[in-house]
Amino acid sequence: MLDRTGTPRGLPPGLPRDAALRERARRVIPGGLWGHMNAARLPEGYPQFFERAEGCRIWDADGNEYIDFMCGFGPMVLGYRDPEVEAAAAAQARLGDIFDGPSARLVELAELLTETVAHADWAMFQKNGTDATTACVTIARAATGRRKLLVARGSYHGAVPWCTPSLAGVTSEDRAHLIHYDYNDAASLRAAAAEAGGDLAGVIATAFRHDTRRDEEMATPEFARAAREVCDAAGAALILDDVRAGFRLDAGGSWEPLGVWPDLSAWSKAIANGHPLAAVTGADWLREAAAAVFVTGSFWCNAVPMAAALVTIRRLRDTDAIPHMAAMGERLRAGIAAQARAHGVWLRQSGPAQMPMILFDDDPEFAKGNLFVTEALARGVYLHPWHNMFLSAAHTPADIDRALEATDAALAAVARRFGEKGA
Ligand code: PMP
Repeated sequence: MLDRTGTPRGLPPGLPRDAALRERARRVIPGGLWGHMNAARLPEGYPQFFERAEGCRIWDADGNEYIDFMCGFGPMVLGYRDPEVEAAAAAQARLGDIFDGPSARLVELAELLTETVAHADWAMFQKNGTDATTACVTIARAATGRRKLLVARGSYHGAVPWCTPSLAGVTSEDRAHLIHYDYNDAASLRAAAAEAGGDLAGVIATAFRHDTRRDEEMATPEFARAAREVCDAAGAALILDDVRAGFRLDAGGSWEPLGVWPDLSAWSKAIANGHPLAAVTGADWLREAAAAVFVTGSFWCNAVPMAAALVTIRRLRDTDAIPHMAAMGERLRAGIAAQARAHGVWLRQSGPAQMPMILFDDDPEFAKGNLFVTEALARGVYLHPWHNMFLSAAHTPADIDRALEATDAALAAVARRFGEKGA
């Protein structure tokens, strides 16, 4: 097994089943696991394999229980195995999931999304966030007959050649029509638009800056308005990549509080509480182009995830689920801030409270961050050292207070190892 820097390291002690599964996986799965869930990206001691989940708790393959602050990297939003969502999914499963065409759930869900999402006149469905962002780009190009796409440097939009972070297997042609700007920098966005000239098809932006390994930044109103203006001036499509933040910040779309409507939004993660589903919502002027492109997949019309999404989206819209997540995130944030002060450890907590990032000062190699999360993990709390985390509606004040007991001990360990001020 290799760590993040490519150095071999031992299998995690105390996780014998996990270690055995990794060993078997290493033989039959390239790299032991693809992508973001490869636990080799995490400090030693993190499990890779899980057995069970309920509410805000997960159990690893060795039976250890954790309060989870990753929520499956975002899809879990109401709680693992939420009874109401699972009842709707099970009722649909009894009728059938896949047919020779969609079920009525498809129409019901498109109606629900267009009623709920402020800018949406229509909706289409896919499986993964990458399907949705890629469909948005394709629709923008089809509608405008142009090629250039403005993309923020470092933003993640998925794992296909036009956007994957690794260049392995990617050709320069795959990236030929991307022009980069800096997130939240209106001047760099305008400069990128000027470079695109008459060939500008669209601008894509995440809901806020949630790149890994750096502080999160909310989108500034100036930046969002500049993105809208650039697209209006050019007749190009403004694409909001709401895959990660969608329905955690605002049920109407993450830029609703900014008063800026995108032309297209990409959704996935939280829309079906863990059932596989993605969506594109769009404005009327893109309807014809959206009908003209050929985007589809064998599982894109499956009815079970749509039944789950109908319950999930209504609950997120009509109950206090989103303010509750924010309040639980604030409780965690305030508790950790007080603990950090008490232990003399300097750390930064950024982003919306329900999608927090915690990074330590003077920690270029994440030594403090890794120690912090490892100590919390040993006390039954699953955190991430350099990716944004996720709160859910299933986290209770008691869960947060229990998690804070673990973070207190973990910050004490950071103070002991790195000294006063964590320096
Ligand atoms: N866009 C953003 C902002 C994301 O966070 C992600 C997934 N992390 C994607 C797109 C791609 O989604 P998926 O992994 O479901 O393809």
